[in-house]
Amino acid sequence: MRRVSIFGATGSIGQNTIDLIARDLPAHDVVALTGGGNIDRLAADAIRLKADVAVTAYEDRLDDLRTALAGTGVEAAAGQGALAEAADRPADWIMSAIVGAAGLAPGFRALRHGTTLALANKESLVTAGPLLMAEARAHGATILPVDSEHSAIFQALVGEDIACVEKVIVTASGGGLRDWPLERLASATPADAGAHPNWDMGQRITIDSASMFNKGMELIETREFFGLPPEKIEAVIHPQSLVHALVGYCDGALMAHLGAHDMRHAIGYALNWPDRRALPVDRLDLAKIGSLDFHAPDPARYPALRIARAVMETGGKAGTIFNAAKEVALDGFLAGRIGFMEMAGVVDAVLDALSAQFRLTIPMSSLEEVLEMDHIARQTAWAHIEKRRQAG
Ligand code: NDP
Ligand code: MG
Repeated sequence: MRRVSIFGATGSIGQNTIDLIARDLPAHDVVALTGGGNIDRLAADAIRLKADVAVTAYEDRLDDLRTALAGTGVEAAAGQGALAEAADRPADWIMSAIVGAAGLAPGFRALRHGTTLALANKESLVTAGPLLMAEARAHGATILPVDSEHSAIFQALVGEDIACVEKVIVTASGGGLRDWPLERLASATPADAGAHPNWDMGQRITIDSASMFNKGMELIETREFFGLPPEKIEAVIHPQSLVHALVGYCDGALMAHLGAHDMRHAIGYALNWPDRRALPVDRLDLAKIGSLDFHAPDPARYPALRIARAVMETGGKAGTIFNAAKEVALDGFLAGRIGFMEMAGVVDAVLDALSAQFRLTIPMSSLEEVLEMDHIARQTAWAHIEKRRQAG
């Protein structure tokens, strides 16, 4: 029996993970499931999967969770301490699928126990990539990518020598506003940006796909996870989202990974790794698909890519600032305080302001330092949004 825990169990990735585990429950011993405000779903899944403990991130929801789990034998817990305690519980495989920088600390903690961490929380790598990878090495832990592009790269690298890699191409759908005229983008609402043409995902990543902040994060994620220099990493628009990534080798070969729009492929690959097992995902019918299109992203439409590239070049503290400012810019957009095209301006402004205060290229040496810089960047971003609002 494999002991598994799922952080962010109530979200889109968490639910897809549960779907796979529930299909073969006798092979799994579910240790911890964690969620945020969706107590009903958390409790229902914890009971169905016979988890040892269910944790909500919100302390003020503990009573609700206790009530929902009363008499079931599943322990209820809440708050950051409980999340850390859940990460300390022995498990062979842990899914890191909390959204945002909130996912960093539990994943970091789990690595200390030498576990296998299936990493959907890309913010961890963007915010603290070098520290996270070093933590895994120090404790003999394994990190497996769950982001579909990175799972695809990982699979295209099996048996190959990374020194022979000339480039990695990450594909992007272009998001829900891909076909809007450029001048209309400024007026896009969260509902407009929150409809993805191909994938069914959480709200934040869907809007990040429309702005391509998601793809910018994925370029940085590629750099951090595979240790490739920025000039070897590219993004290309591929509206069908069927080729997830390509790896180009020194002999001119380009290895592509294709698959249906279903995160259960990447999650299942990480769950079964190093083996491959049958997965309940659609198979592609290439003759029916007919053609696959690719084109270069328009820099005016997607400024996030330019910013992400500068962040990769800078390294050090830049990823932490980028991620925090981007999360706040998205909160500002969701709250109607800034427009869709202003999000990039906020991130640019925060990077500029903090590069005048700190030597961004100097790497951070601890998780505490990262969290401190994350906090400063968030405050700077909110102050900038307020200043913009006042300036009208
Ligand atoms: P969702 O918004 O669907 O789910 C997020 C999960 O995190 C939920 O369980 C939510 O709980 C929990 N959560 C939210 N805020 C907090 C917090 N402050 N502390 C602790 N837990 C919290 O997100 P997704 O599943 O879409 O994405 C999860 C991660 O995976 C992200 O990092 C995303 O970038 C990445 N990813 C997602 C993909 C996808 O297809 N969805 C593809 C590739 C990567 P609750 O809902 O109960 O409030
Ligand atoms: Mg992705």
